[in-house]
Amino acid sequence: MQITQDPIKKFVIVGGGTAGWLAGATLGNIFKHSDVEVELIESEDVNIIGVGEATIPPLIDTLESLGIDLSEFISATQASFKWGIKFENWYQEGHSYFHPFGELGKRIDGHEFYQCWLKLKAHGDNTPLMAYSPEAVLAENMRFFVPHQAMNTPLSGARFALHLDAVLAGKYLRNFAQSIGVKRTVGHVELVDKTLDGNIASVTLSSGHTIAGDFFIDCSGFNSLLIGNALNTDYQDWSEYLPCNRAVVVQTTLSEDIAPYTISRAQEAGWSWHIPLQHRMGNGYVYCDKYISDEQATATLMKNISGKALTPPRVIPFRTGLREQVWHKNCLALGLAQGFLEPLESTAIHLVSKSLALFVRMFPTKQHNAILQAEFNRRIHQDYVEIRDFLVLHYCTTKRSDSPFWQDWQHRPIPQTLQQRINFFAQQGGLLRETEALFQATSWYAVLDGMKVNPLSYNPTLDALDAKTLHKSLNMGRTALEQCVLKQPSHLQFLQQYCPAEN
Ligand code: FAD
Repeated sequence: MQITQDPIKKFVIVGGGTAGWLAGATLGNIFKHSDVEVELIESEDVNIIGVGEATIPPLIDTLESLGIDLSEFISATQASFKWGIKFENWYQEGHSYFHPFGELGKRIDGHEFYQCWLKLKAHGDNTPLMAYSPEAVLAENMRFFVPHQAMNTPLSGARFALHLDAVLAGKYLRNFAQSIGVKRTVGHVELVDKTLDGNIASVTLSSGHTIAGDFFIDCSGFNSLLIGNALNTDYQDWSEYLPCNRAVVVQTTLSEDIAPYTISRAQEAGWSWHIPLQHRMGNGYVYCDKYISDEQATATLMKNISGKALTPPRVIPFRTGLREQVWHKNCLALGLAQGFLEPLESTAIHLVSKSLALFVRMFPTKQHNAILQAEFNRRIHQDYVEIRDFLVLHYCTTKRSDSPFWQDWQHRPIPQTLQQRINFFAQQGGLLRETEALFQATSWYAVLDGMKVNPLSYNPTLDALDAKTLHKSLNMGRTALEQCVLKQPSHLQFLQQYCPAEN
């Protein structure tokens, strides 16, 4: 085995949104005791998007791996806790379901809990699946606690995420990254210079200052300055599967208790989100401009908010899909420069950290390595396919037909990969999932069950279990869960205890 040849000595990150500063924090943390330089350039002329406010549980692990204290982060970003997402009116008007993240009950005699529940359902037990989900029961009762403090209780398998103020999160990550040696340069990139073999050599700012590097990270948002404009990497457009292409967003005052979950409400031409933070609500309406104008979408959003508007409504156009190659030559694209899928399952910030973690596992030298790059691109592509399929599942199983948008969902093509997943599930409730899948089995079960997609039967091995004994066991588990939930503090009480300085 040889010593690393030609290691990268300088990283240049273009863009200082969540993606840029998360990249800065991750690389800064790895190289803080070495002579590898990390420089981040951000423009004062281009604002960050500033709307990534709901997250999924792996963010907690990312913060921990960077050595960031959770309660300090929550105080600094005015964050609240999130047990999952409540989907309202998706199946039909007036119907709702909950998508939690953690375990659904425990395995029984080696059988998956979901299969046990399916068997009881087939034997006439109508207890809803979510009655066994710690997060769903905690959310319904507006309670919170930290799961690892409840070891050996029915709550220990619960998983949580955060709602956070995207601008404050960006600032926090910036201070963190700078404190570990990441250099910040304020400037507007105007030119990208390439070498003869097509790699990026340097970027030149409008001030005339040129910054050279060995490896470049494109975090320039929808502008895609490096991977798109300079390297001409194609964009795979997925709008035939997910037609929404705009969002209107507005921040409002809090007018109700801070719920420990996100609300996603189906609307006439898309859906709206409502994300409670400690100091305000984040709201948005994701829609397709073929079915509704910006003015109509804005009016619908404003009708759906409960507090007073703190900002004027802002329309953000987007195009669903991703770059064919998210790592090309000596450039890695992250965040909005990499791709975009509507925020129905709050996956974008996670894709940034997952891309970074994968990049670290496949870390390059200055030499081009086609094998590492190809595998990296394949894996990220696979993640996007998984999320795309999961998002389409929310729509294509609807029974709504009250507007042209929803009527069209009855005929829209769905990805073959999703069709295979649904067909497979429809047999015995099994899931087709990759080994390093982004969504846990719980996520698929929650949405499939929430949208009333029912398998024909359960797995026949469940016949080895006696239905009466199984019923007793599930009932006991459910009662214990309810009792344990009611002993927990309210979400607000917990926030006040956990981050006292800010409340
Ligand atoms: P941006 O925040 O746009 O930052 C781009 C940076 O590039 C800025 O600093 C800008 O100054 C800089 N820049 C641009 N051009 C130049 C230039 N020429 N020179 C120098 N610098 C330049 N994600 C979630 O995880 N959860 C959510 O709930 C969620 N909701 C969303 C809702 C909507 C409507 C949208 C559009 C996105 C949402 N996202 C969500 C995604 C999330 O906002 C982004 O993934 C995340 O904020 C990362 O953005 P970014 O850093 O890639 O880009």
